[in-house]
Amino acid sequence: MSRPARGKVWEPSSLGGLPDSGPRVGVVALQGGVREHAELLIGLGARPVYLRTPDDLVGPDGLRVDALVLPGGESSTIDRLLRIFELGEPLKAAICAGLPTLGTCAGLVLLARDVLDPAPGQGSLGILDVSVRRNAFGPQVDSAEELLETTLGPTRVAFIRAPRIETVGADVDVLARRGDAMVAVRQGPVLGTSFHPELTGEPTFHRWLLNQIT
Ligand code: GLN
Repeated sequence: MSRPARGKVWEPSSLGGLPDSGPRVGVVALQGGVREHAELLIGLGARPVYLRTPDDLVGPDGLRVDALVLPGGESSTIDRLLRIFELGEPLKAAICAGLPTLGTCAGLVLLARDVLDPAPGQGSLGILDVSVRRNAFGPQVDSAEELLETTLGPTRVAFIRAPRIETVGADVDVLARRGDAMVAVRQGPVLGTSFHPELTGEPTFHRWLLNQIT
């Protein structure tokens, strides 16, 4: 698949037509479940913009996107690629400046202040005031789809090698628990989930993200 011109909405042919209006949502597209987020966003009338390099995020006139998604995948791999592609620092600056952001699973790990059991050399963006433990609900074979009560309403989501949120700072709201484990949190316009809403087509969290855009 060929790369789009910088700053253009990337239109993978397999996604069909994209809306030509609506908020532009950057989806970090270095590794992991990118396409499912793009499909959900399109379903909600937004335009996904795949982000790989700093130029995809910031142009001469400033930010090219209105909101951001950090997808699931393997957080240590995405962390490494963010540094190789020099996208991590501009992302951090944009989120700290108030860009509404949703991180799912590995995306939550990347947003966390502390990763308690990092892979060798693994870092994080250190934005959400939480600590997380990776793979805390078991390996891939323990993956589960379930209906989860959240403060945003009941949601159908998938847990796959999901991280557990171990501690939260004073400014962090807990949106959902699984048993006694915290699995969704919000700090201002940044929301992180241990689970994948995009794999079940659950729109609640993406709708929340779009509602944060001012
Ligand atoms: N356990 C993975 C990690 O640490 C996340 C898994 C996922 O995103 N489904 O990155």
